[in-house]
Amino acid sequence: MITRSNALLQRPDPETKPLPVQARWQTQLARAIRDPRELCRRLGLDEAFWPGAERGHALFEVRVPETYLSRIRPGDPSDPLLRQVLPLGEEAVSTAGYVADPLAEAEHAPAPGLIHKYAGRVLLIASPACAVNCRYCFRRHFPYAENAPSRAQWDESLEHVRRDATLHEAILSGGDPLAASDRQLAWLVERLEAIPHLKRLRIHTRLPVVIPERIDEALLGWLTATRLQKVVVLHINHAHEIDAAVIAACRKLSAAGVTLLNQSVLLRGVNDSVTALAALSERLFEAGILPYYLHVLDPVAGAAHFDVADAEARELVAGLREVLPGFLIPRLVREIPGEGSKTPL
Ligand SMILES: *Cc1c(COP(=O)(O)O)cnc(C)c1O
Ligand code: SF4
Repeated sequence: MITRSNALLQRPDPETKPLPVQARWQTQLARAIRDPRELCRRLGLDEAFWPGAERGHALFEVRVPETYLSRIRPGDPSDPLLRQVLPLGEEAVSTAGYVADPLAEAEHAPAPGLIHKYAGRVLLIASPACAVNCRYCFRRHFPYAENAPSRAQWDESLEHVRRDATLHEAILSGGDPLAASDRQLAWLVERLEAIPHLKRLRIHTRLPVVIPERIDEALLGWLTATRLQKVVVLHINHAHEIDAAVIAACRKLSAAGVTLLNQSVLLRGVNDSVTALAALSERLFEAGILPYYLHVLDPVAGAAHFDVADAEARELVAGLREVLPGFLIPRLVREIPGEGSKTPL
């Protein structure tokens, strides 16, 4: 959605066609890099990277907005942000134990786009799209098309929440829920807050990190208006992902009364050192965010090269305890299908 004042602020770019009427973040999303060769070229990676990038792209398409690209060091194939978004030939290698749906989510969907696995909390898939495609994502094979509900299907999901008075928290997830328009989100939140037993609205998102402009007036409008208590769980894996624009976006969320938490995935070659994890926690706190979970990798097919063994993961967190205050230590967890909560390691 776009307000009149936003439209006036959008200066026409003489080099390109006139902009369609959309918010700035939507323009950035629409212009994200989706071509593996272009990604390599823009980052100064030579042609040797092309075949692998194309093979990985065929399995799970490339998506990287400029706002994220600008934080990647050009010419460095081991950059921790690049590792998260550059497809590699390794993704085509099949590894025992790595499967398409490691969390068996398909078995926990009582209504379309709704996952009810844990007591008191229900997860709603508010948008199938993401602002960035993370190579290690456990949803890389998720049947999104079947899980992007229409308004009529939303009614079925909302009815499930309405009928179950043990539910106190609605979690908007995806994909990335903030890839939905503010008009859609305001519509949904209005219906959720009308359900008396709901107390909290939680949003699991990577969008404010990837495209900080997502935290605009339209979003802050519906977020400020709701009676529900608000928690935003961001997804940040490395300190370099937090630049000044991300900090500014987080400040706006905090000012709107949002509790900010972060979840990370422990990833080989991205954040698999005490130094990297400690720097991440410190940087999160500078942005007003508390570390919440450090997930071990879900065994999704195509991501085995990111795996860090359990023993090493425990050692890393023990190392963090030696250098950080307790409130900056994330909980090291694994998601095991069929369990009633995340499982601490
Ligand atoms: C992770 C998850 C939640 C939230 O779990 P918390 O431990 O409360 O953060 C809820 N529902 C599903 C399906 C999940 O995977
Ligand atoms: S933003 Fe989240 S859901 Fe989307 S690709 Fe990345 S990890 Fe997966």
